[in-house]
Amino acid sequence: MEQDIIIVGGGAAGFFTAINAAENDPYARITILERGKEVLNKVRISGGGRCNVTHAEFLPKELTRNYPRGEKELRGPFHSFMTGDTIEWFEKRGVPLKIEEDGRMFPESNSSQSIIDLFLNETRRLGIKILTKRAVQDIQKGEKWQVFTSQEAFTAEKILIATGSNPKMWKMLEDLGHTIVPGVPSLFTFNITDKRIKDLPGVATPAMVKIKGGKLETEGPLLITHWGMSGPAILKLSAWGARELSDRKNFEIEVNWVHGLEKDEIFDQLQELKMNHGKQQPYKNAQFELPKRLWQSLVAAANISEEDKWADLNKKQMEELAGQLSSGIFQVHGKSTFKEEFVTAGGVELKEVNFKRFESKIHKNLFLAGEVLNIDAVTGGFNFQNAWTGGFLAAKAMTE
Ligand SMILES: Cc1cc2nc3c(=O)[nH]c(=O)nc-3n(C[C@H](O)[C@H](O)[C@H](O)COP(=O)(O)OP(=O)(O)OC[C@H]3O[C@@H](n4cnc5c(N)ncnc54)[C@H](O)[C@@H]3O)c2cc1C
Repeated sequence: MEQDIIIVGGGAAGFFTAINAAENDPYARITILERGKEVLNKVRISGGGRCNVTHAEFLPKELTRNYPRGEKELRGPFHSFMTGDTIEWFEKRGVPLKIEEDGRMFPESNSSQSIIDLFLNETRRLGIKILTKRAVQDIQKGEKWQVFTSQEAFTAEKILIATGSNPKMWKMLEDLGHTIVPGVPSLFTFNITDKRIKDLPGVATPAMVKIKGGKLETEGPLLITHWGMSGPAILKLSAWGARELSDRKNFEIEVNWVHGLEKDEIFDQLQELKMNHGKQQPYKNAQFELPKRLWQSLVAAANISEEDKWADLNKKQMEELAGQLSSGIFQVHGKSTFKEEFVTAGGVELKEVNFKRFESKIHKNLFLAGEVLNIDAVTGGFNFQNAWTGGFLAAKAMTE
C-alpha cells in the first residue's frame, strides 16, 4: 500500500502529527499504524483519567527546566510551539483547557475523553486512516520507506516514529543506525518505613530533598503517604535522579523541612526561643510554619518529651532538633509507581536528531516525536507538551 506519510504509533505524538500534517496538506495520504486494539490508551488513563494536557508556564527557558532529559534540545522547538499554542490549538477545536492552582492544565470537562473525541473526530474529518492491531515489525529504507506489519507492507516517502518507549521499536531504530539510550523508569515515589512519618499520611509541606551524599537537590511540596513519601519534591528527585537510582533499591535521602535553612541558623532560632519563651513547651508550639503533627514528630525524634519546656532543653536536644529539621535522614527501601503519570527515561540519542524538524540526522524523511526520544519530564503536563511540540514541528517539516 502506498502512502505519503506513515505514522507508527497511535498515541499522543502520532495523532498530533497526523492531524497537523493533514491540515497543512489536505491531499497527503496519511495512515496511522497502531499495535494495540485501541488508540490513545495513555491519553485515556493520563492524569488520573483527566489528562493533564500541558502546564501554565509560558516562558520557553523556564519550561525547559522541567525536562531532566531534553532541556537543551527543547529550547528552540518551544520558541516555535509551546504551552500557549497548545491551549489555543485545543480551544480552537472545541476543547478549552483550565488551569489548576499548581499550574497543571486539564480539559474543562475534566475528562481525557474530550481529547480522544477531538482527535478521533479530526482524523475522520481530515481523512486520516487509522489501522489498529498493526504492530510494525520491520522498517527498511529503499528509494522510499518500507514499513512491514504482520499483515501487509506499506511504502511511504516519509515516516514518523511515535511509538513511545517501546523496546522493539528502539531495536529497529538501532538496526537503522541510531543510538538508543537504555530505558529506565522515571517518576516514582519512595517507600519509607520510619517512625517519624508513620502516623502522618496526608500531611504535606514544602521541603527540599536530596539523595544522601549526592549533589542533586529538589524542592517543592512533599506529601507523606501510607507507604512513604510522594509529592512534587520527591517526584522531581525521582525524575532528575532516574538514571542514578535505576539500579538502587535501597538508598538514603536527606530532607530539609524548613525552606533550606542551615542547621546553624535553625539552632540560633531555637536558642532565641529558649531565651525568650523558656516557659513554652516546644511540643505544643509548632515553629517554622510546619504542620503541627510533623513538628511534634520531629520534636519527639529529638528526644524532647511532651512536657519539656524550651528552658529545659540541653544543647544535645537542641542540636538534634536542628538536625531533624535541616537534614533528616530517611532510609528508602524501594520505589513505587506514581499512578497519575509515569514515563521512561531513555530512547533515541538526542544528538542524532534535528530539533528544528524532529527529523533523524542519520536518515532523511525519518521523523521522531514523543517519548521514543530520550526526552522526559517531571510530572505536570510537560510530557504531553513534548509530544505536542514534536508532533507539530514534525508535521510542518513533513508537509513543507
Ligand atoms: C498512567 C500514566 C499517566 C500519564 N499522565 C500524563 C499526564 O497527565 N500528562 C502528561 O503530560 N503526561 C502523562 N503521562 C505521560 C504521557 O502519557 C506520555 O509521555 C505520552 O503518552 C507519550 O506520547 P507518545 O505518543 O510518545 O507515546 P504513547 O502515548 O505511549 O503512544 C505510543 C503508541 O505506539 C504504539 N506502538 C508501540 N510500538 C508499536 C509498533 N511497533 N507498531 C505500532 N504501534 C506501536 C503503542 O501501542 C502506543 O499506542 C502519563 C503516563 C502514564 C503511564
